[in-house]
Amino acid sequence: MLNVQRMSTEDGPGIRSTVFVKGCTLACRWCHNPESISHEPELVWQEWRCVGCGSCEGVCEHGALEHAPSGILIDRSKCQACGACARACPAGALELLGTPRRADALVAELAHDRPFFECSGGGVTLSGGEPALRPAFAEAFCLQCREAGLHVAVDTCGAGPAEAVERSCRHADLVLYDLKEIDPERHRAFTGRGNAGVLENARRLAERARPGAIWIRTPLIPGATARPDNLEGLGAFIAGELGEAVGRWELLAFNKLCAEQYRRLGREWAFADATLLESGEIEGLRRAAARGGVAAERIFCTGATR
Ligand code: SF4
Ligand code: SF4
Repeated sequence: MLNVQRMSTEDGPGIRSTVFVKGCTLACRWCHNPESISHEPELVWQEWRCVGCGSCEGVCEHGALEHAPSGILIDRSKCQACGACARACPAGALELLGTPRRADALVAELAHDRPFFECSGGGVTLSGGEPALRPAFAEAFCLQCREAGLHVAVDTCGAGPAEAVERSCRHADLVLYDLKEIDPERHRAFTGRGNAGVLENARRLAERARPGAIWIRTPLIPGATARPDNLEGLGAFIAGELGEAVGRWELLAFNKLCAEQYRRLGREWAFADATLLESGEIEGLRRAAARGGVAAERIFCTGATR
C-alpha cells in the first residue's frame, strides 16, 4: 500500500478516505501520482519535515544516503528499500512508500473516519496505482467495507485482465472508471498501452452495473487529452455503449500539484512546463463532451483554471 489520504473530496461523493495502492498497469506521461506507478517500494525524503538531526547518517549499509548541504541525497541505484533509515528518522522525513497492509486491519482503521462519512455522504475509495493488480485484496477490502457499513468506491484505470478488473470492482458501491483517450494510438503513446482492453472492460462492467453505479473520469491534459475530438469521441462511447450505468462524467482539469512529488522521487515530469487550461477552454471541452451524446447535466468539470 502507498498511503491513505483523509478528507478527500475528489474521489467520489462526500468526504472520503482514499487508500492508494502501489503499482499501476499504465504509465501515463502526466501521472499525478508518480509514487504509485512502480510496483516496488520506494524511499522518499521530504525536505519540509527534515530537522537536520543527522540520525539517518551512517544507518545505510548500502551507501545509498548522503547528507549533503542541500539535504539528504538518495542514490536510487544503491537503495535496497530496507527502510532502516526511515525507522531511524524521528521526524518522518524519510518514508518508505509501499508497505504491505492487511485488508481487515485497514478497514478497522478507516472505520474511525465514519463520523466524517456520515455527515457528508462519503466513504472509502480504493485507488492507485491500479487496484486490479491485486484483485483478491481489492475484493476482500470492498467486501469488508460493506460489512462494516462503509460506502466503498474503487477507482480503476480499467487496464488489465477483464477478470481482475471485474473482481476488484465486484463489491464496490461505486466504480470510478478512467477513460482518458479514445484514439488507440494516442492512448498507447500517452499511457504505454492501447485502449481496446480499457474500453472492453468498461463495457463488461456497465453490463452488470446498477444505473448510475459508474462514474467516468477523464483528465484534461493540455497538449494531450484536452482536445474537442477526444471529448466528443469519448462522449459517443459513453452514451452509446455504457448507457444508464454511468451516473456522472467528471472532466478533471490539469493541475501541477504533483510537481513536488516528482522532485522528491528524483524524476523528470514531462508536463512541468505545461500551463493550466483557461476556463473558456474547459467550457469548450465540456460542450464537445456533450456533443458526443452524454446529457449535459451528467457532465461535471472540476479542478484549477488559469
Ligand atoms: S531504505 Fe535502506 S537501503 Fe535505502 S537508503 Fe534507507 S537504509 Fe539505505
Ligand atoms: S533523520 Fe530524518 S530529520 Fe534527521 S536528518 Fe535524517 S532525514 Fe532529516
